[in-house]
Amino acid sequence: MTYRECYEKGSRILNEAGIEESTLDARLLLEAVCGTDRNDLLVHGEQPVEPEAEEKYFGWIGKRAGRIPLQQLTGEQDFMGLTFTVNENVLIPRQDTEILVEEVLKELHDGMRILDMCTGSGCILLSLLHYSNDCEGLGVDLSAEALEVAGRNVLKVLTPEKAEHAHFLQSDLFEKVEGKFEIIVSNPPYIASAEVEKLMPEVRDHEPVLALDGMEDGLYFYRKIVSQADGYLAQGGWLCFEIGYDQGAALKEMMTEAGYGQVQIIKDLAGLDRVAVGQKK
Ligand code: GLN
Repeated sequence: MTYRECYEKGSRILNEAGIEESTLDARLLLEAVCGTDRNDLLVHGEQPVEPEAEEKYFGWIGKRAGRIPLQQLTGEQDFMGLTFTVNENVLIPRQDTEILVEEVLKELHDGMRILDMCTGSGCILLSLLHYSNDCEGLGVDLSAEALEVAGRNVLKVLTPEKAEHAHFLQSDLFEKVEGKFEIIVSNPPYIASAEVEKLMPEVRDHEPVLALDGMEDGLYFYRKIVSQADGYLAQGGWLCFEIGYDQGAALKEMMTEAGYGQVQIIKDLAGLDRVAVGQKK
């Protein structure tokens, strides 16, 4: 089959399976299998695809039709201009989370200590270390499988010198954490349990529920982190969260009551609550 025929057949299969971005996914999977880019479809569409590549491609198309997320097939997701390894044990980095990283970067200065609570793939912590100098970073997660992925991402996105300043710890929130930090950042699980089953099948059935489920009202982890972070924040340090689209008011109240100053809720481009920040007075 030619490159274009593979793409067209792949698109058709995904479309028939009800995959929303069928043509995009078909093209990205083909590029990942063949090591090609967007231009190849236009310029080299008539080239034959090697039989092994064709077999691998339609294997992936079958899995994608079965709702496995594209990134779990290619094993990668770009975030903050960097490419992260992902698998079924970590939340796939979301573009929305870049807003959180951008907000943290406004307060981050050279030499600061950063704690990333619920680090997952490590995308937040490692982006912050990549875009700063002489910072020290600690990524915490309950899941050993997630930390294994984060560990692989260290050398993938950081220089060897910066990699020495990235540390990871398996801990149930702050249980095993020691020391003080100028920045505590977290994108914790924040979806109310009853809402998890309503998510799209890619997320509900294939991403780790541990990374999604924020218990009854979705605010469980914010309550825990807000009440405990004080003991780990340096004077004037910042607590920064990603939050759900309807959680801004709750977070503002929670952080203000806990004594944080300059509490701000930042919206995303769609005008929805996305980030909450506050400073230890
Ligand atoms: N910190 C990771 C991310 O933002 C994982 C978040 C999570 O597992 N809830 O992608």
